[in-house]
Amino acid sequence: MNNRLERLRTKLSENDLDAIFVSSPENRRYLSGFSGSAGFLIISKDAAVLATDFRYVEQAGQQSPDFRVHRISGGMTWLPELFSELGIKRVGFESGDLTVAGHQTIINVLKDDAVAKEVSMVSTSQFIEPLRMVKEPEELALITRAMEISDHAFQVVTPLIEVGDTEQSVAWKMEIVMREAGAEALAFETIVASGPNSAKPHHHPSDRKIQSGEPIVIDFGARYEGYNSDMTRTICLGEPDETFRIVYDTVLAAQMTASVTVLPTMTSGEADGIAREIIENAGYGEQFGHSLGHGIGLAVHEYPRVGPRSDDPLVDGTVFTIEPGIYIPGWGGVRIEDTVIMEGGKVRSLTTSHKNENPRA
Ligand code: ZN
Ligand code: ZN
Repeated sequence: MNNRLERLRTKLSENDLDAIFVSSPENRRYLSGFSGSAGFLIISKDAAVLATDFRYVEQAGQQSPDFRVHRISGGMTWLPELFSELGIKRVGFESGDLTVAGHQTIINVLKDDAVAKEVSMVSTSQFIEPLRMVKEPEELALITRAMEISDHAFQVVTPLIEVGDTEQSVAWKMEIVMREAGAEALAFETIVASGPNSAKPHHHPSDRKIQSGEPIVIDFGARYEGYNSDMTRTICLGEPDETFRIVYDTVLAAQMTASVTVLPTMTSGEADGIAREIIENAGYGEQFGHSLGHGIGLAVHEYPRVGPRSDDPLVDGTVFTIEPGIYIPGWGGVRIEDTVIMEGGKVRSLTTSHKNENPRA
């Protein structure tokens, strides 16, 4: 934990900031260990304060031993006095998280204070997020657990899916198994997309009945102690058509080739290119309209950014997804996604479920 604060403080001084005001829930948790849903961090060169309200004071004291817990009530009227006490003048705020209204409230309370009116609030963007990119062993253990829960749900539920089941009923079964296996929440809303619906990468499960011979895309993840997993499998009940065979084999080749050839010396853009080339060569380049993947951890989408235009390096310790897909309007789609870690110079998949389209394989 101290190491995280140390790295942040180095960055503060590099950016000529006296302190940072942290409002993002993931960054708050990463830096302090506090898992409550409300509170702010104020971190300066020599102070670390966790400001939260009555509901969370006890929990904050237990979870955040490196922080001074400062009890607050609603609004921001407590902020000027704290800034004055800490002697900070240039304070960064998270422009990607703080709302315009929240920012205005802070500006107003500072303006009305004799001392704190000297404080300037400096907009920062993606200031703390890159610090979360390389995972520590304890973070990897939590992501691994979240992934095991997802793999378990896939293995339990998919062999039981029958023609005539609705997308919603399959999603619900996945969710029940994940929760019973220890997930504290879903990482995101489970996607079950059958037939033509699977041509929409983020289809919302409907009451459509699953039919024989069509693609069924299931994209889901579990959250465990704040950390997320994310996986997709595409399955087919009965005999798939010729299009399915070609599309499935192409996506599988792209997914597996990327998994074995991506190196820590590559940028994410180069990694994306490996899978994209295979799909383009098969004639489906236009049907792969999203990025190869994304970093994952406390947030489902975080650094490294894994897309065609990303320079983010896939260094050892980064955890990200590899999820090529092909989507054909009117027919359907295929996506195969693993959550992986770059480790010892090569990719190791944390997702272990089979990649056979037959769910009873
Ligand atoms: Zn996914
Ligand atoms: Zn994903």
